[in-house]
Amino acid sequence: MTEALYERDGKAIGSLQKLRFFPLAVAGGKGATLIEESGRELIDFSGAWGAASLGYGHPAIVEAVSRAVANPAGASILSASNEPAVALAEKLLASFPGKGTHKIWFGHSGSDANEAVSRAVMEATGRTGLVSFTGAYHGCTIGSMAFSGHTVQAGAAKAEGLLQLPYPDPYRPYRDDPSGDAVLKLFRAKLREAEPKSFAAAFIEPILSDGGVIVPPEGFLQKFAALCREHDILVVCDEVKVGLGRSGKLHCFEHEGFVPDILVLGKGLGGGLPLSAVIAPKRILDCASAFAMQTLQGNPICAAAGLAVLDTIEKEGLSDAAGQKGQVLHRKLLQLADKHALIGDVRGRGLACGVELVKQGGSRVPVKRETAKLIYRAYELGLVLYYVGMSGNVLEITPPLTITEDEIDRAINILDQAFADISNGLVPDSITEGFAAW
Ligand code: PMP
Repeated sequence: MTEALYERDGKAIGSLQKLRFFPLAVAGGKGATLIEESGRELIDFSGAWGAASLGYGHPAIVEAVSRAVANPAGASILSASNEPAVALAEKLLASFPGKGTHKIWFGHSGSDANEAVSRAVMEATGRTGLVSFTGAYHGCTIGSMAFSGHTVQAGAAKAEGLLQLPYPDPYRPYRDDPSGDAVLKLFRAKLREAEPKSFAAAFIEPILSDGGVIVPPEGFLQKFAALCREHDILVVCDEVKVGLGRSGKLHCFEHEGFVPDILVLGKGLGGGLPLSAVIAPKRILDCASAFAMQTLQGNPICAAAGLAVLDTIEKEGLSDAAGQKGQVLHRKLLQLADKHALIGDVRGRGLACGVELVKQGGSRVPVKRETAKLIYRAYELGLVLYYVGMSGNVLEITPPLTITEDEIDRAINILDQAFADISNGLVPDSITEGFAAW
């Protein structure tokens, strides 16, 4: 008898690399649909945490990667220039304002990219302090965890000289100030206290993703960046989750009226293959003494996938489409909020949406257990999505950019049913037992 894939996985692969919300084992996929071993189809509202930017089995990726794998030039991966990597670097640079001033570094994940940036900025500027935000998730390496601020990284040692600011959250404002000005005031005060020239860079997610899909108040990022520049602090936008079309614009910072010094991309860039990229000033990326070299970085196979992703976003107009589909999705989520008292807030930009679940009665008290039950029930009904947030009570919706409006409709109907089943007491607490998430 064949053991089910999920069981074999549990026996063979360690939990160190797992975040399990329900017993999903994927045998295939097409578009925004995942297929289980049994043949059951599920709509993927997570898009593999945003990595499946073009969904599953998109012909552009299949073709580009197959061609790259079959090309013997792939054998000379290191120490040789290869066409896909150079073309991808050129394309990324062309997408970024400040032509001629920047270069590219390639990696395999958001974690290695943020880690490389943190070391390179210190080396290049001679400063050792970093600025970041509570709730931020920048990676799982020692370096990237040291300046992250998610609860899941609470045990990690923090970087020396780290200044961590509260992320301005209009739903749960710091010092009751939904404009974010109180955070800026605190930042100003901390800068006054610090030695001049102590901070090399400030890392910010333009939408705080794993921290709860929080869109900062209008104008905040612009003012924050201006303050950084007054003190020669490099502004690093970590768009690993929300970049490359998801927000309704190619780069999420384009909504905010400022340009970061450094942009970090990952997840959706590879469309499912391991690929990240940093766009940064030449003086940072030519700083060889920071040494961030990895054997397979810039390999032609992942680069070919990246090129296919960028070409397809352009050809199929996926950024604009994400903006439009995002509006439809947002409207439908607000309709759900009218029906289900558990929903405290609906927010997001484009196809990066968050739904915060709280106790009924306007208290805004997070409800983690109900959130876990809700996503489990949604899975049973045919929808994959996960939760994020510092209290584990925010549904994160980051589907493939190629999701159709019909799929959005069907997913919303499933969520509607799942919320009703929770309120009607049809889902026992025990259902989530054994599923350790964050
Ligand atoms: N930055 C952000 C904003 C992320 O959301 C994540 C992953 N959730 C990372 C970095 C780390 O990326 P990876 O998991 O590819 O290392």
